[in-house]
Amino acid sequence: MELTQLADSIYAVTQLGKATVLGWSNSGLVDSGDGLVVDTFWDRPLTDELLGLYAGIRPERPGTLVNTHHNVDHTGGNSAMRGARIIAHANCAAAMQAEAGMHGLFQALADADPATLEPAQAALAEELRPFDHASVELELPTESVVEATELDLGGTVVRLVPMGPAHTDNDMVVHLPEQNVLFTGDLLFNQCTPIGWAGTTQLWMDSLDAMVALEPEVVVPGHGPVCGTDGLLGLRDYFAYVLREARVFFDRGVAVDDACRQIDLGPYGEWEAPERLVFNVQRSYNEFAGDTDATIDAADMMSRAFALKPALKPAR
Ligand SMILES: [Zn+2]
Repeated sequence: MELTQLADSIYAVTQLGKATVLGWSNSGLVDSGDGLVVDTFWDRPLTDELLGLYAGIRPERPGTLVNTHHNVDHTGGNSAMRGARIIAHANCAAAMQAEAGMHGLFQALADADPATLEPAQAALAEELRPFDHASVELELPTESVVEATELDLGGTVVRLVPMGPAHTDNDMVVHLPEQNVLFTGDLLFNQCTPIGWAGTTQLWMDSLDAMVALEPEVVVPGHGPVCGTDGLLGLRDYFAYVLREARVFFDRGVAVDDACRQIDLGPYGEWEAPERLVFNVQRSYNEFAGDTDATIDAADMMSRAFALKPALKPAR
């Protein structure tokens, strides 16, 4: 993990260049007032290392943690900040509780002998193996946000802005208007293929437009390298491209997985985890069919993405 200063008293820690894609997220620190951390990491060891980096900037433990959404790669280390104010979208706590039972299953899968697993399961197990799932303790938000809210952090303005539902039903960005820094959580995957668990592609594109309208100079995505508004526009273009391509196959009655094999990914073939295309095409199909509330079977989608991998059309 790497610590970078973004602006006066604002920092990010990124986790880039990993062998696998799933779960290597980014975090932020505002070193003003009693200090604010944006997101923890998947587990305690990673989060303890993260907080160790922040302690090099400010030795006192930050008093506030903001979770951009409930996914474990952004909240799994919350217990390392027990006693702090933990602020999140009003839907976040329920979503964390709903997934609390997953961590034991993840650990069991990570510990399983790969030879006993289906190929898709073995691939998921490999992505889960770097994390200490047993160390994840449920540490819920102590305060919830339902509309744009401003915090005064020792004179530094921190705006918490709920958006979506786009990636989850509890997306919220952290904006520092004076420093022109934006922490997007997973409303931005930069140079890696996004997955949406709730909401719609259209609402995600609307969220990207709303973030561009904030005119940030520095954008910290949930995953991928720090960027500017180019990163936001790049993901917006990806969704527009997938919607356009998916529409052609939908109108011809081609099944989702077959469509994914035929879609030319163009420049997006270079993004990490291009096989996640299947999530985005499935969601596009659901939306074309008027089903904007479809539930996503994560295990089924992951195994379909795995099956797609060898068949992806290479970039032109
Ligand atoms: Zn994430």
